[in-house]
Parts: sequence; structure tokens; C-alpha cells
Amino acid sequence: MKTKTLLFAAYCILLTAFCQLAVAQAPNPLDEKFDFYTRGEYRAGVPRPQSILRYDVGDHHTTYAQMEQVIGAIAAAAPDRVKVYDIGTTNEHRMQHLVAISSPENIARIDEIKANNARLTDPRRTSAAEANAIAQNNPSIAWMAYTIHGNESSSFEAFMQVVYQLAASNEPATLDILKNTVVLVVTGENPDGHERFVTWYNSVAIGNADRNAIEHREPWAIWGRASHYRFNLNRDTLVFTQKESRNLQKAYMEWNPQVAVDHHGQPSQYFFPPTGLPTNPNLPQPVTAKWEDRYGRANAAAFDANRWDYYVRDIFDAFYPGYWDMYPSLNGATGMTYETDGGGFKGLRWTRDDGTIVTLRSSIAKHYVASMTTLETNAKYKVERLKDFYDFRAKGIADNARSKMKRVVIDPTSDRVKAAELIEVLRLSNIEVKAASTSFSTSTAHTYMEKDAKAVSKTFPAGSYIIDLDQPQRIFIKAILEQDTPQDKAFVDDNMARFKRNQMRGKGQPKEDYGFYDITAWSLPLVFGVDAYWTEDVGSVAGTMVDAEQLAAAKRGSVSGRAAISYVIPYETDSTGPFVVRLLQNGFKVAVSTKQLNAGGRNWKTGTFVVRVSRNPDTIHESIARFAREMGVNVTAVNSGFPDEGDTSVGGESVISLREPKIVVAADEGVTQESYGSLWWTFDKHGVKFTPMTLSSIRGGGLKNYNILILPDGSAGRYSSGFGASGISALKEFASGGGTIVTLSGASIFAALKDVGLTSSKLVGSDEDEEKDKSSDDKKDSKPTPSPTPGSKSTEPAPIEMKSDRADGIAPSLPPIASPSANATKVPEALPGSIMRATVDRTTYLTFGVDRDEMPVLMASGYFFRYSKEGTNALVFDANPKKPLTISGFVWEGNTERLLKGTAYVIDESTGSGHVVLFAEDPFFRGMTRAITRPFFNSIIFNGVF
Ligand SMILES: [Zn+2]
Repeated sequence: MKTKTLLFAAYCILLTAFCQLAVAQAPNPLDEKFDFYTRGEYRAGVPRPQSILRYDVGDHHTTYAQMEQVIGAIAAAAPDRVKVYDIGTTNEHRMQHLVAISSPENIARIDEIKANNARLTDPRRTSAAEANAIAQNNPSIAWMAYTIHGNESSSFEAFMQVVYQLAASNEPATLDILKNTVVLVVTGENPDGHERFVTWYNSVAIGNADRNAIEHREPWAIWGRASHYRFNLNRDTLVFTQKESRNLQKAYMEWNPQVAVDHHGQPSQYFFPPTGLPTNPNLPQPVTAKWEDRYGRANAAAFDANRWDYYVRDIFDAFYPGYWDMYPSLNGATGMTYETDGGGFKGLRWTRDDGTIVTLRSSIAKHYVASMTTLETNAKYKVERLKDFYDFRAKGIADNARSKMKRVVIDPTSDRVKAAELIEVLRLSNIEVKAASTSFSTSTAHTYMEKDAKAVSKTFPAGSYIIDLDQPQRIFIKAILEQDTPQDKAFVDDNMARFKRNQMRGKGQPKEDYGFYDITAWSLPLVFGVDAYWTEDVGSVAGTMVDAEQLAAAKRGSVSGRAAISYVIPYETDSTGPFVVRLLQNGFKVAVSTKQLNAGGRNWKTGTFVVRVSRNPDTIHESIARFAREMGVNVTAVNSGFPDEGDTSVGGESVISLREPKIVVAADEGVTQESYGSLWWTFDKHGVKFTPMTLSSIRGGGLKNYNILILPDGSAGRYSSGFGASGISALKEFASGGGTIVTLSGASIFAALKDVGLTSSKLVGSDEDEEKDKSSDDKKDSKPTPSPTPGSKSTEPAPIEMKSDRADGIAPSLPPIASPSANATKVPEALPGSIMRATVDRTTYLTFGVDRDEMPVLMASGYFFRYSKEGTNALVFDANPKKPLTISGFVWEGNTERLLKGTAYVIDESTGSGHVVLFAEDPFFRGMTRAITRPFFNSIIFNGVF
């Protein structure tokens, strides 16, 4: 019996153990707890992150300063493997770091490795044989970057585990990585945004998985996704507008990595490449695809072994060159975006659509495994990857012979400061630029202002910038400077088919989404609005290679002397507008000539500014000299008021006084963060003062001491509900009392709403659109419906779960269609970020300083504004153009061109003694588009004057 009892007891113990084992093998997803420490032996003395943080992985969010302690302690304990580089501070004064981790042998010769690797970037100076030797003997460089979207928090926690593993483990696979790779860990690409998010999250979170819990609803002022200035740093590698982007870019160019992974965290399941369509045609296929496939299959094997869900291709494309995967890819590396499925807005715990829970810890584990797997794959194929890195530029140069586009010429005449800024951006990426010392001609010039423009003869002035494509950076140059980048035919056909199906769909039926991930046009000469041509020939031109000193000189302004009578400020650069605002806001008196002016022995155009010495304090001389130097404005000192000819002298009646712009910018829920941020950044850059204000403060008398109100892009509905009837009355009172209201994009839709009526312009296809076909039978359904995309012009609150991580930059809206035959073709389909031709009315004050008849403007919506019948249409989409309106990017066949004609981009309407100035789109999109800078600043400078 006893024996039997014992046996039974033993059986029970075994059974329990078996059951426990079974549980361990197939964990309940709710309890899953990944072990980060199975890849030892670990070296004693190297501290685990948790020993410093005092909480387990994924139990809490780590602040930037705590992370610095962790990295510092690991680096101090493992100096043989780890070297920390400080790469620059953020706007909020946090230091950004690059942690180099490799074998002790590599760390000991790290500078030599860096120098050898750099030799792979110039096939003109390094032969294939030399490159082969470097590939054999040098480790490859892996760029592992984390948390560019500060609120995608899993990635921040994950890199500390990666750093520990590499610094502490003696596991053979880890040692193999160290031997073959210099791993560069970027310890937070967006420290300021991350800090906002974690400080807020840690203070409210209770680990509640309910999607409605407050911890999943980040307030407007937090929005850790973006940088200090609320820029999406993962769209900033075209122009590198932000300090943080420049820190990273400089470090990137110094190290020249072969693989670069940007770690994010937003979708429902983990994503890693291969990417989906469209693919940027400048990427060298089939090499790009080979590496995406190789890294992707290795990741897949690791994820399959862990029984983790993931996907590839789908919505994540490789088209827009402004991402931190595309910038590496266009610089010869394999650039990849990895997206984990938890953390961020999902917090510590989040309920999926099937009721299961995703935890922060599990999403950290996935990033950790993907990072380590990528490094293993990279180590395994090190030699081949290094060779392909060298071949990237060699092939780029070789392909030049077959390419039509051989040279880009930028004429700086219309704005020498802006042209120099553009060249500076190119120089960041080691693009070689020459400045012509004489004028020169070509018979194969193609204008940027026309898609597929014919070759014409053209003479360029001395001082023009020349970018020849026959250089190592050719692939990158082509990707950012070509006039238009076509999408894969299969992608275009698929989206046109969806468009046609949507048009056939009955009212109230859900419409198919489109596949555009981001803008489809970005050519830098167009977004900057500089005069540019590309040519098929590369005739020899005398000149010098442009360096930093030369560009600084081009950006510097001057004053011709100390004026006795007045200073004359010609409107020759975009910076002239902010320069005048700065003078006015510093208490100086400035006037503008509304006719041709004669002063100092010459004529000046209408719109020239005059600062009269007699009206200003003595400090004007010093201030004007300093501002001119800093902002690149050339000022002429005039010592007599006598005009040699004409009616208008500096003392003339047509030189009228300006008033100080006292600016309010709406900053509140419903305002698009990036639109507000780009204004904030633009104003700060130029020393322009403004007051950010909530809608309720504006409504409640806050405008009393101001004369300008700017409403950035935002949700028309949220503006409506935020202001309410009393707020809308306050706005109308402000304008009729002499104030100027400037509305951008979604705020312009708000202005045009029937119940708001700040403008008489009507949206094409809306209820109030009188020009729409009167015979249409079901008008009420034809009103464009706001888009459901976060950050767009929606009238609905942003949904918590975004369609995709990168999808918030544009607002693809899907206007409902009344019936297949009636209104379908009367409502504009949203443009996915395309550049269109606007025609300039040069007789209005809004276009003072504009010397061009046409301007390229980026359109990223389907909201087209009819000409105002009561005001001035300063920039329009001509109703009878000789040329198509489309300049670059995707447009909807049979829809866009037809419906955009006869609409306006900038409308000015007087109301009482004030104005409402409407911009159809955001003039400073991503801080990148600059073509409309002068009309925008004119709306501020001339307030109360005209
Ligand atoms: Zn992201």
C-alpha cells in the first residue's frame, strides 16, 4: 500500500511537473515572459540594465537620464568592447550618443577601420581590388537606430538589452558579430519626444489594457512621436531641417554603414522587410531586393522559432527618400524599418482586436531578437555586403553614361540665400557642387516647372551652381533632385482600379483605401522653389568646387554704409520678410513703397522697404547691420531724399508705414502638430516673436493685444467645436476690427464652412459649390468628407490605432460619392502629395517680392477652393492653362486636372478693416517646402496697410 501510495505520489509530482513543463512550452500569451539572458556566458562585472534601473524589462518606461546611466555603466565596465561617442545636443540640450561595440581587436583600431571603410565610398580613388581587400580585412559597420518616434517606447528599452548582450556575452554567435562588425547603437534618435512621452506615461499609467484607459490617450502637448519642434524626424532626411537630424546625418556620413535598421513600434504585428510597392526606381535592383530578402528570411526564421506573428511587404514601401531607411539605402547600405507591436500608445498592456493582450515586454523582446538576428546575418555575409556597398557607387557612376539626366543647374538669382541653403543640404551628403565663374550655355536644358519638359537652349549666369551626376553620390543625387520619380506600373494600375471601383460604389458604402504611404513628389529644386534646369550634356564650365566658406558668404548680408536719410531694403530673398518683421517687432519703423521707388541714384521695384533714419532711434544702425548680416539681406544706405526721376522718393506719399505684427498662433487639440511645429520652427529660426494660444483663450478675449491670428492646418471640425458660435463671432470681430486671420489648409476648410463663413470661397464639390453641375440629383452626399487619418483635416477625433506608422504625414481623404453616374466626377480625389503649377497675380501686396509668374506648390488633399468672387486670388490654378497643372508626382486621371482648374491656392478677402488670408495647403510642409514663403510673410507684414 505504502509503495502504491508513494508511487501514486510520485506520479502526481511527475504529472504536475509535466503540466508545468507543458505550460512553460506553450505559455498563455497573457503571461508570456521572454528571458533576455539565455545567450551567455556573461562576463562578470558588466552590469545588467535592471541592476541600475531597479525594475524588470518592460515593467516601467526608462527616462533618457536613466538610460545614460545604464550605457555609461556598461561602457565603463567593458571598455575593451565599448566606446561611446557624443554626436551633438538636441533642442532641449540632451546629448545624443553613438555607442560603438566591437571586438577588443577592432576597438583598438577603430579609427583605422573607419578610414578603410570610407575608402569604399569613392570608386574613383579606390580600385575594385583594393575594395576587395578591405572587404576581407575590415569589419562591416552596422547602424542600429532606435526611437525616432519618441513615443514608440519598446525600441528605447530594447537597445539597452542589445548593448548589454554585445558588451557582456561570450556566446559564440555574439563573439562572431563582434569580430565581423562594428555595431553602432544610436541611443535614441528623438530624445526630447521620448522624454515627453515617458514622463507623462509613467505618471498616469496603471498598466490597464483597456483601449479607453487614459494611459492610451496621449495629450496634444505631449505627443512624443515628434521632436521638440513637433517635426516627424522620420521624414527629415531630404533636407535635414532639425538639429537632431543633422547630428545623426553627420555621424552617419562619418561611419558609412553597410546595414542600417530603424526601430519603430506601431502596427498590430511585427514588420520587417522585404518592402512592398512602390519601390524607388533609383535603388539598384536586384541587389537591394537580394539583401532585403536575406535579412528578412533570417528574421523570419527567428520569429517562427519563437512562434511570433509578423509580416513583410504590405503597406511599407521604399519610395519616398526622406525616411531613415531610405537615406541609408540610397547611400549604399541595406536600410530597413522594423516595427514592433507593443509599447508606445499601447503602453504596458493593450487589448488586441481578438481580446488577447500585447505587453511592452513582449514587444521589447521582438526588437531585441530582430536586432540580434540582423547582426548575426550581417556578420555571416560580411564580405559580400561590403563588396556590394562599394559596387553601389561604382555602378552608379557606370550607369551615368546611359542616363539622360547628367547635370543639374541651379540659378541663384531669384534668391541667393535659399539657393545656398539648398546647396548646403547637398554638401551634407558629400555631393560635389561647382559654382560657375562665367556664364555658360546649353541646348539641352529641361525646366523643372514641367513634367517631361522638352530640351531648350538656355544660358545660365555666372554664379550658377552645377551638380554633375558623374560622381560617387549619383544614385542619391538622382533620387532627390530628379524632376519626377515614377511609381511602379503595377502600383499605379492597382490604385487607379481602386479609384474606378470607388467611383462605381453606391452612396454610404465604404470606399477602398489607397496604397500611398507618403508624398509622391519631393524634387528639391521644386520644394525650395528655386530656378533650376537639368541638362543632357556636361559642357566644360570654368568654376570652383563649392565649400562651406563660400556658402556662408553667399548667405551673409550687408549694409552699404551708415545712412544719413534712409535704408533701402530690396525684396530679394525669402529672408527679407522675416527681416522686416524682426525690425518691426524690435520697435523700429519700417515703410513699404507701393510704387517704383527712386533712391540712391537708381530705381527699386514696388514692394521695396524703406527705413527712415529720422523716424528711428540711433540703435537702428547697429540693429539693421546685424540683422542684415545674419539673415542674408543686402541693404543700401541712402544719403539724400532727392529722386533723380519718378514720383516716388523715400519721402514720397506712396511709401507707407507698416505696423508691428503682433502674432497669435493657435496651439491646441485639433491643430495639426506638424503644421504648428513648422511655423514655430520657421519663426524661431528668424527671430520672429509670436504667442501660441489655446482656442478657448482666443475665444475668451485673448486677441485683444494682437493684430495677426494664424490658424495652422488642423481639423475643421475641431476648430468649429473648439471655437463654438461665440469664438467664431470673436474671430469675425477681430478681422472686421482690423486684424488679419491667416488660415492654412484644414483651417481654411474651417473658414469656408457654411456656419463659419470667414471666406466666401467654396470647396469644389461641396453643398455650397454653385459651379458644380446643377443637375446633380443628390447634392447633400457630395460634400467632401474629412479624412479619417490622424493629423489630417478630419472633423473626427483621431482614432487611436493608426493605419500605419508612417501614414500620418499626408491626408488621403476619400470623399463619398453620391452615385456612380452623378457626383462621382465632381468631387476631387485627395492628392497624395503632388506638386502643381500655381499662377501668380503680381498686382497684389501678397506677391510683393515675387518675380516669377508661376510657382510649384505641394498639394496633399482633395480640398480645392473656388476663386473668391469678393476678394483677391493671389495664386491660382489657371482655368485656361497652356500647360498641364501637374508638375511632379501622382495625379488622378480624369479628376485632378479638371477639378483643380479654376481654384485658388491663396485668397485674400477684406472684412471691415481687416483681412482673412487663406492658404489652401501648408506653406511650410515639414519645414521643407519654401516656394510660398514670400506670400506667407506678406500676409503678416502688410497687416492693416492694404
Ligand atoms: Zn515610428
